[in-house]
Amino acid sequence: MTDSLRGTPTLIGFPYDASSSHIRGTAAAPPIIRAALHSPAGNRATESGADISDPAVLQDDGDVALGAPAEARRDIEAATRRLLKRGRRLIALGGDHSITYPIVRAVRARNPRLSILLFDAHPDLYPEFEGDRFSHACPFARILDEGLCDQLVMIGIRTMNATQAAVAARYGVQVIDMASWAGGGSARQRFTLTAPVYVSIDVDGFDPAFAPGVSHREPGGLSVREVLTALDQLTVPIAGADVVEFNPGQDPVGLTAPVCAKLVKQLAGRMTVA
Ligand code: MN
Ligand code: MN
Repeated sequence: MTDSLRGTPTLIGFPYDASSSHIRGTAAAPPIIRAALHSPAGNRATESGADISDPAVLQDDGDVALGAPAEARRDIEAATRRLLKRGRRLIALGGDHSITYPIVRAVRARNPRLSILLFDAHPDLYPEFEGDRFSHACPFARILDEGLCDQLVMIGIRTMNATQAAVAARYGVQVIDMASWAGGGSARQRFTLTAPVYVSIDVDGFDPAFAPGVSHREPGGLSVREVLTALDQLTVPIAGADVVEFNPGQDPVGLTAPVCAKLVKQLAGRMTVA
């Protein structure tokens, strides 16, 4: 395994929501996810028995101050490059989903073979959205245009339209839409990752019953356990990950922050054992 796949999982927050197409608010997420992660109501143990208070399991680089969109993208990529150069692997906290494109640019530079696994209600494959090529509706179109991954698998999709389906077809994206996933059987088993994987978790991939704190609620989604099981069943190392689109302003009963914290914990545990 290459060094890029051995690094200690390290949190880094990108409090950026200026590329959101609807309501903003995801920039407030990173400190709230950390608070849930370290809450006395929670627990340090991952389900695999790792302890996130062990510095070999999880480190924290804090948040990166970010400005206007073009500059923010540059700063996100540069911060990710620095983190990877120190021999760490990132678990990024969004922020809106636009952050994934500059992150993956940096991750790809250290991983000549890279698969991406996306959990999302939306494919985020618009060539441009409302005139913005870097909108949170576009990151995977940018990633594919630049050849930043060898394989892209999407799970939980339930808003595919013709514009985005054309991009998915052009690049051979494997879309396991929510209906196929819920149907079980072969549709779930069919995806085989061929390279170390970058895992991108858009919190709106979950059913709003589990994670109401998002800007774009799309009913009929994934359960928390389904995503955790999919992470447990990965057969390739995790090169990096992000948890994006948690909007604390939409989370009045505080259900969504613990879901994000749980994802961080399980990702760290999974990255450590693999
Ligand atoms: Mn989404
Ligand atoms: Mn998304």
